[in-house]
Amino acid sequence: MLYNYILVRLGDLTLKGKNQNVFLRRLYNLINLKLTGLDIKIEYRHDRIYIDPKNEEIKNICERLDLVSGISSYSLVIKCSDDLNDIKENSLKLVKEVAKDGQTFKVDTKRANKSYPMLSLEVSQHVAGFVLSQIKCLKVDVHKPDLCLHIEIRDKNAYLFISSIRALGGFPVGVAGKGLLLMSGGIDSPVAGILAMRQGIDVECIHFESTPLTSIESAQKVIDLAKIMAKYTQNNEIKIHFVPFKEIHQALLQNIPESYMITIMRRMMYRIASKFAIKNEDLCLISGESVGQVASQTLGSMRTINDVTNLPVIRPLCTTDKVDIIAYAQKFKTFDISIRPFEDCCTVYVPKNPTTNPKIDKAELFEKMFDFAPLVEDAVNNIRTIKITPESNIDLSLLGLEVRDVLDEIKNKA
Ligand code: ATP
Ligand code: MG
Repeated sequence: MLYNYILVRLGDLTLKGKNQNVFLRRLYNLINLKLTGLDIKIEYRHDRIYIDPKNEEIKNICERLDLVSGISSYSLVIKCSDDLNDIKENSLKLVKEVAKDGQTFKVDTKRANKSYPMLSLEVSQHVAGFVLSQIKCLKVDVHKPDLCLHIEIRDKNAYLFISSIRALGGFPVGVAGKGLLLMSGGIDSPVAGILAMRQGIDVECIHFESTPLTSIESAQKVIDLAKIMAKYTQNNEIKIHFVPFKEIHQALLQNIPESYMITIMRRMMYRIASKFAIKNEDLCLISGESVGQVASQTLGSMRTINDVTNLPVIRPLCTTDKVDIIAYAQKFKTFDISIRPFEDCCTVYVPKNPTTNPKIDKAELFEKMFDFAPLVEDAVNNIRTIKITPESNIDLSLLGLEVRDVLDEIKNKA
């Protein structure tokens, strides 16, 4: 392999003072945790991390780095001595590998080591002159080159690289405190969860399950999505809190006018999630809602649904277009699981004409038509929690979920 080192750049260092130190400490710990078990050596500098792959495949290391929030980018580099001849030979090797006919070219040098006997510009000129003398098809363009060879000189070594790979960005997961994600089996909520983790929030999931009104496979989807989300957490583990929602779901179907069904179902979910979040010491709720996506996600609906909670509700996808949400889901590898065709409690028995502008007073009035409070209490008190790791193999029957044969139903519908 051409490259023998990895240079990692850290995320948002615009943070000042004490916050920056907290960020760095967290990030170093997180990187250590995520790379545990690999035969590598990590050197920490203030704003850079260098990884010596030793006997490990670079691909394996990169796959793990892609899961670490707080890393802004990384580059595969050639590390060599800071001897000019060595730099020249290795630069030639690297540029030969990537250059295409007719491309424009530039060398950019930085010296952390200010006692180095040549100025940065002199190094660039020497190396560029040498490379151009050996590869005739390149032309110089110092303003907008197609190809820029970067040379960093520090501690008796030189690090050569061409490109940077964008990493997850954001802040190290955990640095922002803990939040509770309302997690359905759809496309949006897992993406919202991963984006929240990327922003430093430690995420736990709450899922409202209505088996046997909904299928057991929809609960399995949530577990399979959580297995992917677990890879982004600090310790490769995420909690799912399963709320038994069947009784409430049935009461809603029997007592609430169709046009307000989803609004009030959502208000019930938010009530239960808030009560649980407060007990569980979560600082916020997180949801996959996106403005205007469906009737329950108009601003009017959000206002009426949000009215039942005092907790901040973080909606990472609030202004994100569905095409972009799908692109995230594909990047995070949750998409194929999310599109498995099993409904959850918001997609089963969908009302034909849901209101797009529900009013708080009307919702309150309808909620008085049945005594939901004891059911809400029961639901909160009977939440079952499981911990999921990427390797988890959960037997759903142990969770007490009731099975109905939806595969047959789906086949019959088709
Ligand atoms: P998603 O892909 O998240 O399901 P969606 O467009 O299908 O998105 P809705 O079904 O309208 O969205 O749900 C909006 C949000 O409400 C979800 O993103 C999720 O945060 C929350 N939610 C919906 N159903 C459930 C559920 N069964 N359990 C927990 N949260 C849910
Ligand atoms: Mg959904």
